[in-house]
This record gives sequence, C-alpha cells and structure tokens, in this order.
Amino acid sequence: MLLALYEALLAALGPQGWWPAETAEEVVIGAVLTQAVSWRNVERAIATLREAGLLDLAALAARPPEAVAPLIRPTGYFNAKARKLRAVAEAVLALGGPAGLAAMPLGEARARLLGVHGVGPETADAILNYAADHATFVADAYARRVLGRTGAVAATTYEGVRAEVVGAMPGEVLGEFHALLVALGKDICRPRAPRCAVCPVNALCSYAAQHEPLSPRGPHHADLPPSLAPGAHGHSGLLCWGMLARGDRWRCLAQTGSGRGAADGGAGRRPSWPIRCCP
Ligand code: SF4
Repeated sequence: MLLALYEALLAALGPQGWWPAETAEEVVIGAVLTQAVSWRNVERAIATLREAGLLDLAALAARPPEAVAPLIRPTGYFNAKARKLRAVAEAVLALGGPAGLAAMPLGEARARLLGVHGVGPETADAILNYAADHATFVADAYARRVLGRTGAVAATTYEGVRAEVVGAMPGEVLGEFHALLVALGKDICRPRAPRCAVCPVNALCSYAAQHEPLSPRGPHHADLPPSLAPGAHGHSGLLCWGMLARGDRWRCLAQTGSGRGAADGGAGRRPSWPIRCCP
C-alpha cells in the first residue's frame, strides 16, 4: 500500500526536488528554521543569511545568536531559533558536519542529534535524510494526516509512523515520499475539508472510500460540456493542469501559451499540481 501510494503520488505530482538547498549545511540550517513556520518565511531568512555569508555552519557557530536573530526574523521565535541554530551548528560540526553524520550508523547519529538543544524528531530526521542521506523518514503532520486517512499506516504517533514507513519502503525514496506527502497535504488533503474529488490517490484512500469515492468514470469529463472536452483546450487529453470543482460543475484550468486558463474564461487560476483528468 505504501509503495502504491508513493508511485501514484509521483506519477501525479512529479518529483518535488527536495530538499530545496544548495548544500548539505544549508539543509541543516533550513531544518531548524522551518520549525513551526511556513517554508515561504524560511526562504526569506535563508536569502538574508546567504547575503550575510552565514549559510555555513562554521560561520554560524562563530556568530553570537543576538547578531543572527534579526536576520531570521521572518521565521518567528527568532531569538530562540538563533540560539538553536548556534547549538545545532556547533553540534553538527563536532560530529564531523553532514559528512560525519552520514558516516555514522543511523541510530547513533539520530541519538546524538536528539540530544542537541532545539532538535526534535522532525528536525533530526530532516537533517539525517536530506543532508546525510540516511534512510529515515520525516513523519510530520502532513505525512501523518495523509498516511492516516488513506489507511496506509496503522500507527498514529510520530515514531510509530516513521518506523512503519522506514520498514516498508526503499531507503532511497523516503525523502521524495515525504516531499510528495507534504505537497498533497498542503493543497489537497487539507486538515479540514480534504478535496478528495480532485485527489490523485482517491482510489487508494480509505477516507475517500467512506466519504467521497470517485465514480467509475472519474469526476472529470463525465460532466464536461463539449467545449471543455479533452483536446478542446490545448492539452493532450492525458495530463491536464487541473480541474477544479466550482459548485457541482467541473471547470478545466488547462494552461495556454499565455499562461491563462483559457477554458476557465481566462481567469488564470493555476493549480500547482497536474492531475490526471482523462482516464
Ligand atoms: S482522497 Fe481525500 S482523504 Fe484521501 S488522501 Fe486524498 S484528499 Fe486526503
């Protein structure tokens, strides 16, 4: 089930290119900054740190937290995060940097990180997976929500979900799997009112089977007027840039050369994921 879910998400959403960082040290820094804040805010702080020459663990460890705090203000709790950054930078450097973590057994590296001020399981697993290539999984709230609703895992706790996923999946896809679950959890499998009708894993999902199953023909072209039929708006008929429900009608948001959703009357509302709409 977990592998089927991964493959369906990858086919529908494509590779997510995580972690969005230029270096392993930048991953470590981003993993601390992203605690309890959206990635958009982290990007602003990362840009500021980059300008200041501080996307580097040695530079961060040498700089007093009071000097770093103003630079990471968009990430919230910036005074506390500046102290955490300093502690994490010192600890990771003492362990040999990301390469040193990669060379250690996963259990030992994880235990060492979890002993550092400001590092919880999510941060530790993000660092270990995305910066040190360890076969661990970030079982954050997005992942737990999607995996729980689909019924892909039985556990509900962080450690339980992580253990189930790590035990069932090839190590090399764990980072991509997490990134795909985040993408789905942000846009479609929302905390309240999940958008099951446009979800690419609807057919695999226990929640949807009980609450919002797809019709055998799918939700899409069955209800479309001819002007919105496959091929009528410039896409191949196999993969479209999205169909969104408006009331009980489906409107195609296929993109044109102008970047506007022509079939949607030019409203130009572009969904951030492609969905298969022409089975
Ligand atoms: S079908 Fe619905 S509940 Fe299941 S993963 Fe998709 S959005 Fe979430």
